[in-house]
Amino acid sequence: MNMMDTMPVLRDVYKARRRIEDLVRRTASIHSPLLSAETGGDVYLKLECLQHTGSFKVRGAANRILALPEADRKRGVITFSTGNHGKAVAYIAGRLGIPAVVCLSEHVPAYRARLIEGFGAEVHIEGRSQDEAEKAYFRLMEERRLCPVVPFDDPDIIAGQGTAGLEMIEDISELDTVLVPLSGGGLLAGVALALKSIDPSITVIGVSAEATPVMLESLRAGKPVRMEEKDTLADSLLGGIGDGNRYTLPMVRDLVDEHIVVTEDEVEKGMVFAFRHHSLVIEGAAAVGIAALLSGKADLRGKTAGILLSGSSVEEKKYLAVLNKHAV
Ligand SMILES: *Cc1c(COP(=O)(O)O)cnc(C)c1O
Repeated sequence: MNMMDTMPVLRDVYKARRRIEDLVRRTASIHSPLLSAETGGDVYLKLECLQHTGSFKVRGAANRILALPEADRKRGVITFSTGNHGKAVAYIAGRLGIPAVVCLSEHVPAYRARLIEGFGAEVHIEGRSQDEAEKAYFRLMEERRLCPVVPFDDPDIIAGQGTAGLEMIEDISELDTVLVPLSGGGLLAGVALALKSIDPSITVIGVSAEATPVMLESLRAGKPVRMEEKDTLADSLLGGIGDGNRYTLPMVRDLVDEHIVVTEDEVEKGMVFAFRHHSLVIEGAAAVGIAALLSGKADLRGKTAGILLSGSSVEEKKYLAVLNKHAV
């Protein structure tokens, strides 16, 4: 059980920043002249796509792992994510020289397993589905007394992701609006916590992909709901919010001002825009903010906005197909 088992507050974000500063990159917020012209605002891009391991997830993972009591940390950590969270946990554990186990199902492509092993983590492949991989995860956790590092619904994870928000408000002096990708809500809850605590007048907008609006449906229902998984370019936004969600659902409900949903086509155009005008490779999940602007779904006239580009993990073939489809 986590020692800080209450809702995180701004101070936890500041504590997280001190804890993780040697392990995590302070990424730049760069101005986008073209997005500014298109929207009539002043638009900045927060480059978490250039973060270690290619996503912001190292922030939460580092904060969670460093918050563990020394003896627990030494025994090691365990998680069961296939994507950016698994990479982040493996990378941080590797940097700290502690054991990490990442549980994957047999369906996960072999290159992903090799990537995680490359960071020095043990990959445990068991089960034909995510559910079965999750069972293996609980069994190994017990057997080896490993500490779980969950992807979003945890106060230390949320506070860690919130450090990206602190950097934005420091680097973009007139910041009054942020757009943040939304899946499980760790990133959005953390950034909203940091920014709203410092200045409640800042507008915080969550952006979901049409293929996977699980948090939005859960907000509507007033409790976590499950949805069928669809194929999407924004694959890092897939997955539920957890039946026992305790933190991110109430925080997103209480702290976020507005929600926008973008389509697959809009996500593609966001990825292409980042490449064409900023020479940035971003994954589908990271493109939802630019997508919200280009589609006219976010009104930024007269605003100073920060768009969080959350990651850059995209398969080469998928990426090239998107660029080719929209090539001029
Ligand atoms: C995990 C992830 C998200 C969503 O973060 P949540 O905390 O689950 O809402 C967005 N973009 C990328 C690249 C991610 O890896």
